[in-house]
Amino acid sequence: MSRSGKPSVAVIGAGVAGVSFALRAAELGCEEVTVLERAHVAAGSSGLSAGVFNINATDPLNVEIRVRTRAMLDLLERENGLHLAHIGHLRLGRSEHHVELLREVIAMQADLGVETSVLLDPEQILERVPDLRVDDVLVGLWNPWDGHLDGPLLCGALVERAEALGVKIVPKQPVEAWRKREGGGHVLTTPEGEHAADVVVNAAGPWATRMGEMLGAALPLVSQVHDVIKVKLPDTVDYTVPMVQEAIPGEEAAIYFRQDGPDSLIGGEHTYSVIEELGSADPDHYRKTIPWETWEEVASRISARLPVDGLGFEPGWTGLYPISADGRPIIGPYEHDESIVACGGLGADGVTAGITLGRVAAEWAVLGEPETIGGAEVLLPDRPTLAEVKAEA
Ligand SMILES: Cc1cc2nc3c(=O)[nH]c(=O)nc-3n(C[C@H](O)[C@H](O)[C@H](O)COP(=O)(O)OP(=O)(O)OC[C@H]3O[C@@H](n4cnc5c(N)ncnc54)[C@H](O)[C@@H]3O)c2cc1C
Repeated sequence: MSRSGKPSVAVIGAGVAGVSFALRAAELGCEEVTVLERAHVAAGSSGLSAGVFNINATDPLNVEIRVRTRAMLDLLERENGLHLAHIGHLRLGRSEHHVELLREVIAMQADLGVETSVLLDPEQILERVPDLRVDDVLVGLWNPWDGHLDGPLLCGALVERAEALGVKIVPKQPVEAWRKREGGGHVLTTPEGEHAADVVVNAAGPWATRMGEMLGAALPLVSQVHDVIKVKLPDTVDYTVPMVQEAIPGEEAAIYFRQDGPDSLIGGEHTYSVIEELGSADPDHYRKTIPWETWEEVASRISARLPVDGLGFEPGWTGLYPISADGRPIIGPYEHDESIVACGGLGADGVTAGITLGRVAAEWAVLGEPETIGGAEVLLPDRPTLAEVKAEA
């Protein structure tokens, strides 16, 4: 404990989750907060995302997480100069069930004081994206404030705020071992020495499973390789293509695409859940090239949704979605030792959700309960592993 009576904290991993945790812990008065990072800030999934932020989730908890994230993004844009490309987010509803669900989303957002999302009919969608195929679309959930950001720049802005409050971010410090400190707390070992703290936080992204085993605090994740495809736009497309999202939480993977540069899009396949066939990749050795079949499949589905002559497709990059068995992030202290805190499993939308979830985990560690969002108990660790979930099914 420091003089303030607040715990000293060692965070493993300087992705969005780790730096958000560190910032919130410092805001709450922790004087000794250190982030130990294997490589450099945003070296993991946070540096490889498509950077999409939106408040158009479809369940109350995720809507609330995104609305809180929006408030933080607003602050980072205003005070830290973070560039947010507000190109708008359009989620396509293609069944009566989707229409009902997307209507409920607007009500959930209104309950949280946000009233910028609207439902568009196909004609109104075409006013915004004239080339979109809408013959199978009933409505579009549209939010003009949403858009995309750059993951490393986001982490940089969070680091700037955290360092201003005294947080130490230490790159090139892979945590290799852990032991309990005599009299309470933890000692982490890196190649450069030992680091002691009252609280240890596992925010190691796709490496969190490994760190969890080391800490004796399970954080079981599957790390799924996802690909981003680049699309060259012909100059007949003289408007900004917003983020177009076919995926609906709870349903199969579907495509998304969004404007990237002046004459380019990026796109890919998106899902919020584990895809069985993908299995779990080793975060140190996973494929960095995009298989021809994936590329062809995504390209043909994007061309079908945006049937424009002269679209050109190029491979983009690959990265890992760190997903838990039930698809929900794993956030908060462990039952067997509350001074070990999980902050992982951020899945497909963690670059943005992680801003809030890191804060929630820090509030649990420092205040004993979260104050940023309600109902976060369902995210606590000590949940069944994928093998257990499968065995039960
Ligand atoms: C292709 C792709 C597209 C995506 N698109 C989006 C999107 O559009 N919007 C969105 O919100 N999310 C998106 N995501 C998801 C998002 O990127 C992740 O959920 C999020 O970045 C996870 O953040 P994290 O901080 O948990 O993990 P990471 O960013 O991976 O951070 C973990 C850190 O821990 C470090 N580390 C690991 N082991 C150790 C160790 N032993 N010691 C010290 N440090 C260690 C790593 O180097 C890394 O920096 C996308 C992901 C991918 C792959």
